[in-house]
Amino acid sequence: MNTDVKKTKVGIIFDMPECGGCRTCEIACSFHHRGDFSPLNSSLKILDKKDRKGFNVLIINKSSKNNPVCDGCIDIDTPLCVQFCNEKEKLQEMIEAAKVVKEKSEK
Ligand code: SF4
Ligand code: SF4
Repeated sequence: MNTDVKKTKVGIIFDMPECGGCRTCEIACSFHHRGDFSPLNSSLKILDKKDRKGFNVLIINKSSKNNPVCDGCIDIDTPLCVQFCNEKEKLQEMIEAAKVVKEKSEK
């Protein structure tokens, strides 16, 4: 994938120029984990960018006391965050990439 990627202590930040910042993915993810609609309970964080088009997307893939770890929604065919995103293909790529990086770091 051509997306810029940056690793952090809790996860991976992807540059997503196509993201419109609706934050529906955060809500969908919180519903997946906790059955509520709180971005605080999401494994995805949509982060503002000051200098370029779009937003950054942080996918949490390491244990953190404040946020649930992304499990890739392995219990369903299409991750819930992806189902509600206007840029499904891009977000799906990021979820997959976050899983690959997590698996590599665990080896
Ligand atoms: S649902 Fe898609 S477009 Fe909306 S904020 Fe999340 S990644 Fe961006
Ligand atoms: S794939 Fe990860 S980020 Fe997306 S809804 Fe599922 S747990 Fe949340």
